[in-house]
Amino acid sequence: MAKVQQRTMAAGTGSVEQFDAIVIGAGVSGLYQLYRLRQLGLSVRCFEDGSGVGGTWYWNRYPGCRFDSESETYGYSWSKELLQEWNWKEHFSGQPENEQYLNFVADKFHLRPNIQFNARVKSVVYDEQANRWDVELENGQRARAQFVVSAAGILSARYTPPFPGIDSFKGQSFHTSRWPKEKVDFTGKRVACIGTGATAVQLIPIVAKEAGQLTVFQRTPNYCAPLRNGLVSPETQNQWKATYDTIHKRIRETPFAFMHDFDPRNTFDVSKEERLARYEELWAQPGFSKWLANFHDIMTNREANEDFAEFVRNKIRARVKDPVVAEKLCPKDHPFGSKRIPLETEYYEAYNQDNVLLVDVRETPIEAITPKGIKTSDKEYEFDVIIYATGFDAITGALTSMDIRGEGGQTLKDKWATKGLSTYLGLQTAGFPNFFIATNTAFCNYTVCAEWIVEWITDCIRHIREKGFKRIAPTPKAEDAWVEHANELASHTLLSDAKSWFMGSNIPGKKRAILLYPNAATAYRQKCLEVVANGYEGFVLQ
Ligand SMILES: Cc1cc2nc3c(=O)[nH]c(=O)nc-3n(C[C@H](O)[C@H](O)[C@H](O)COP(=O)(O)OP(=O)(O)OC[C@H]3O[C@@H](n4cnc5c(N)ncnc54)[C@H](O)[C@@H]3O)c2cc1C
Repeated sequence: MAKVQQRTMAAGTGSVEQFDAIVIGAGVSGLYQLYRLRQLGLSVRCFEDGSGVGGTWYWNRYPGCRFDSESETYGYSWSKELLQEWNWKEHFSGQPENEQYLNFVADKFHLRPNIQFNARVKSVVYDEQANRWDVELENGQRARAQFVVSAAGILSARYTPPFPGIDSFKGQSFHTSRWPKEKVDFTGKRVACIGTGATAVQLIPIVAKEAGQLTVFQRTPNYCAPLRNGLVSPETQNQWKATYDTIHKRIRETPFAFMHDFDPRNTFDVSKEERLARYEELWAQPGFSKWLANFHDIMTNREANEDFAEFVRNKIRARVKDPVVAEKLCPKDHPFGSKRIPLETEYYEAYNQDNVLLVDVRETPIEAITPKGIKTSDKEYEFDVIIYATGFDAITGALTSMDIRGEGGQTLKDKWATKGLSTYLGLQTAGFPNFFIATNTAFCNYTVCAEWIVEWITDCIRHIREKGFKRIAPTPKAEDAWVEHANELASHTLLSDAKSWFMGSNIPGKKRAILLYPNAATAYRQKCLEVVANGYEGFVLQ
């Protein structure tokens, strides 16, 4: 392990700790970034808002939280020892196990001494003359570094709609991404769940079994597909351990870094019977195969997409007994896959229970939260517990909630409020030298791309130091071209047809633009590598 150095310098009233690099966030990305920078011999401090490691898998403790990625493809690939030492219990591992896994990683690689917990970064300000970033925590503590890597997460800034009266509710209320560590007991209680996205779809069937009454407030029904989870047998575990090289080679070749790959045929190149047989085959498989192993034109051809969308609606209609409720649960206003597909276990069956009620807030909008419960345009519902499964200010939210100031005092928040998300390769943004964003913005099985991104940033910092440069930032021209390229790609897909966090359109007032790079993850990686091969093309190194 690299020797960890750190110096303290008196400054003003407090003291300022000096590091080569500061990493913000101790989730999947931040932990690996810390490990790699420390390996490079840098003095590094990681600041983490939570009291433990894990990020997404630390905060999202709601019942039912788990991977939609296959466990053996989500775990880190960078340590052969780790791959052999860790056993996954389920094919789609649950939050408690995922958190344990990341704690195991933190312990195995002795990462904790470099992490400060309960340390929320408030501001990150660039000192142009000194070429250093001044970081201040909410508690007033200060630190300084040449490099800052934000690994603050893609889905970590929670969003709660500003319902009038929200603080007046006398019962218990929880946002799913700030779930308490202690078990919440729903037994016999009147529970509300606001939202029906991927999180709610995991939570609802579990809460429905326990609660006296569960009322689900739905704005947008989703195309939910069966997860088909199961326990991992010792044989499968051993098989994975013996073939991790093959598994990792495969997921690095498929478009979105899963084991699934698209069917190269066009939807309407095959007969209706053959198509239906293929849909049924995909439906019977676990995970995202229904999306990512479907006919390859499913996300670009509207009719092809509708053909499968109707297949999914019929699956919903077959599972929900009340036809009126079933129709309410059938999405009809956006293409299949234009929003993240929630994977479910007994989600639709929950609506067959007598104690579960679906309220369509497009028909009867929520007007206020009251001391007793929720008031819609139709009536007031009384509750003991309100669950906000209302999602995230995705990708930009974690960054814009910090006061990040670059050259000329320009704030990232202002820059992006005007231009929308604007980065070069998702890795840096012009005017913020040596400030890196280790958040995967490719459509990708997260850890796979997060590893690439962390390795790219580490190699870049190594390059800067070895070649005697002091700073790196993209040119505005390269950044604008990248943003335009991403929007151009998105315009050839059906992604912009939905209100979704992919487009920022789940947040009122947020500039609507594609937030993820809408291309194969392999193409994203290729581009990042080409930029390096061409001498960090589009960046200025000084
Ligand atoms: C419920 C849920 C299920 C998901 N399932 C999948 C899945 O199946 N497959 C998949 O590929 N992806 C999934 N994702 C996406 C998931 O976010 C990523 O897989 C991954 O965990 C992100 O890791 P990260 O380290 O980049 O960010 P995070 O895990 O979000 O970690 C960011 C960390 O930064 C900290 N932080 C943020 N701001 C500050 C600040 N100002 N100061 C200090 N610390 C700060 C946060 O506290 C957090 O711990 C899921 C996301 C959610 C919410």
